[in-house]
Amino acid sequence: MASARPTNAAPPFPRRISVLLPVPLDGAFDYLDPGLDLAPGDYVRVPLGHRSVIGVVWGIGGDGKLALNRLKPVQARIDLAPMLDVSRRFVSWVAAYTLSDPGSVLKMAMSVPEVFEPTPQRRLYKRGGPAPERMTREREVLLEALIDDRPRSVRELARMAMVGEGVVRGLVDAGTLVGVDVDVDQPYPEPDPTRPRAGLSVAQQTAADRIITGFQNADDGDGFQPFLLEGVTGSGKTEVYFEAIAAALAQRDGRGQALVLLPEIALTAQWLSRFEQRFGAAPVLWHSDLTQSERRRAWKAVANGNARVVVGARSALFLPYQALRLIIVDEEHDQAFKQEDGVIYQARDMAVVRAQLGAVPIVLASATPALESIANVQRGRYQYLELPDRHGMAQLPDIQAIDMRQNPPARGTFLSPALRDAMLKTVADGEQVLLFLNRRGYAPLTLCRTCGHRIECPSCDAWLVEHRFAGKLLCHHCGHSEALPQACPECGTEDSLVACGPGIERIAEEVAAIAPDLRVMVLSSDLMASPMRLAAMIQDISDLKVDCIIGTQMVTKGYHFPKLTLVGVVDADLGLAGGDLRAAERTYQQLSQVAGRAGREELPGRVLLQTYMPDHPVMAALILGDRERFVSAELAARSAQTMPPFGRLAALILSGEDADGVTRQARRLAATAPQGDGITVLGPAPAPLSLLRGRHRWRLLVKAERAIDLQRLLRQWFARAGCTKGVRVQIDIDPYSFL
Ligand code: ADP
Ligand code: ZN
Repeated sequence: MASARPTNAAPPFPRRISVLLPVPLDGAFDYLDPGLDLAPGDYVRVPLGHRSVIGVVWGIGGDGKLALNRLKPVQARIDLAPMLDVSRRFVSWVAAYTLSDPGSVLKMAMSVPEVFEPTPQRRLYKRGGPAPERMTREREVLLEALIDDRPRSVRELARMAMVGEGVVRGLVDAGTLVGVDVDVDQPYPEPDPTRPRAGLSVAQQTAADRIITGFQNADDGDGFQPFLLEGVTGSGKTEVYFEAIAAALAQRDGRGQALVLLPEIALTAQWLSRFEQRFGAAPVLWHSDLTQSERRRAWKAVANGNARVVVGARSALFLPYQALRLIIVDEEHDQAFKQEDGVIYQARDMAVVRAQLGAVPIVLASATPALESIANVQRGRYQYLELPDRHGMAQLPDIQAIDMRQNPPARGTFLSPALRDAMLKTVADGEQVLLFLNRRGYAPLTLCRTCGHRIECPSCDAWLVEHRFAGKLLCHHCGHSEALPQACPECGTEDSLVACGPGIERIAEEVAAIAPDLRVMVLSSDLMASPMRLAAMIQDISDLKVDCIIGTQMVTKGYHFPKLTLVGVVDADLGLAGGDLRAAERTYQQLSQVAGRAGREELPGRVLLQTYMPDHPVMAALILGDRERFVSAELAARSAQTMPPFGRLAALILSGEDADGVTRQARRLAATAPQGDGITVLGPAPAPLSLLRGRHRWRLLVKAERAIDLQRLLRQWFARAGCTKGVRVQIDIDPYSFL
């Protein structure tokens, strides 16, 4: 273990050590341990140029490139629990796999600079001095209310005794109450795994037991067991992994930690209150909306072991756990686990690596597992756990297609008569409707009727999307925004611009025209001022203050609305356009998820898919409820083309402000591209999104058989090709985006 110090004779000081710094530089640097007796994993402050930075001791001995007398000494050791060996190996592993600098990966593990500073203090007060000379009735009340010795803030004391804060301050001045300084970061209340819970079904218990057996070998370093837990929405997967979490908490003499990764969007208030009900305390959250002080408190609590269950988005994987005993990846198929900038990585896959390095069980849970995970079950690498039915009485929704060729909407509208009728009937019955369209805003394209001009983003190769509620045109790629012009910017004709195609705001307009009395709520990320606002909106739906919800993928996850019985998918074909590797898989998963919102309790649910391709394999699988057939056809097609999960892909994205430079580098890479059996290099070609934030973009795609060491091949290639000034080459191993 990293914290263990050698007990034999003290090594001679000063001695050489290597320190990895959270900066995008290649590898660790040598420094001098002037006698601090540093060990691997210690956080240290070291000089770097004219700055001073915090890094992690990566090894004793260093690389020896620089003579001992030229090394700079470590300035200080930071008083924190050292980063464990397993975390350090994980950083190195991710860096090697993604071809990133280890420092860039370490930066994700040290993302809260404040933790290395002394914790801010807060002054609290408790009884400590003599009674005041002048006693008043209020002072007496306050002193009587001090039942224990716990220090409290002025405000808390005043509230406790129901006196004014001035009374408290008076007793402080009199010396009766004495101040104590405490860390502002107090420990979190810890979840209690022994609390009573509802009985599990046989299938749930069986699944939970199999996961829990994984703990038996954990301390022998033999506890790595990956599970795929499949079950439709509502089948009780969460209850199963709660059970596994309870067992994980009991590990390591009751100090075990567990991590639940959720796509940010699925981390709902509903999920949190269930956790709290089960364990009596909230989990520790880790996501992008935390304030700096919340991040500091969470990071420290993970590092000192007080944070027992962490629930977070993908970056929670890099936190410095002390006793991580279980990882859960819920909604494991979700593409939000793929980080697309900085260090580009797939958090689900890296979570499996982390579990393997830590020799602990990992559970990937989903109603619609990724084909990669299914293939891993078929190869015998993952154990398969299935929850067959919905818990209790709830039935799976009935899914039907509306063939838009036969049932077209009226000109200029987007809802077919069949969907309109179903919607009105549902609302008339006092139930709720969800109209799903995965497109924010009012219209994806604004076109001039006179000259055909399309309004594009000035810095991206993309159309601007009209957001009518906000009165703006917006670029969904770079955030550029401008007012909707009166006249065509190209030909100058007044009132000639027309909105083409629907976004959810336009569907809301159409619903309002059909049924003005309907209580409509539009839900998408851009309309959400804050998580609190979202929680309030979700509550309004639960309280039946809304008849019709119109939403993007935001609404597809995690929520549970008993009275929601009809889901209308406005454009089921949308995700199939463009046709990248995972288009069919993704569409299937997304539509299954949204379908799962319908009829979660006694009321049966119904799903209507508006499609021009009712015979497409994705639609057929959904309508027939025949996932098997879809999955095996899709796997067979991928296998025939040696595409993932049967082959490996890496994308190279070249970008720069100077178009010529980018083209030149693309040619250099093409000229030096690796060749050989089982390797194909596609491109270079201008990226579909050939201009992004003012940068020109080209792409190459490397396809390799699974046995090939893709990373080695790429490293050698880049060394051959060299680079071009001003051109950035991003490497995306296992790409999900092909834009
Ligand atoms: P999933 O995670 O597969 O979507 P959940 O675990 O959320 O499913 O379960 C769906 C619903 O059924 C929840 O409201 C949950 O409280 C309830 N439920 C699941 N298992 C049980 C059980 N064994 N006893 C009682 N209620 C359960
Ligand atoms: Zn743009």
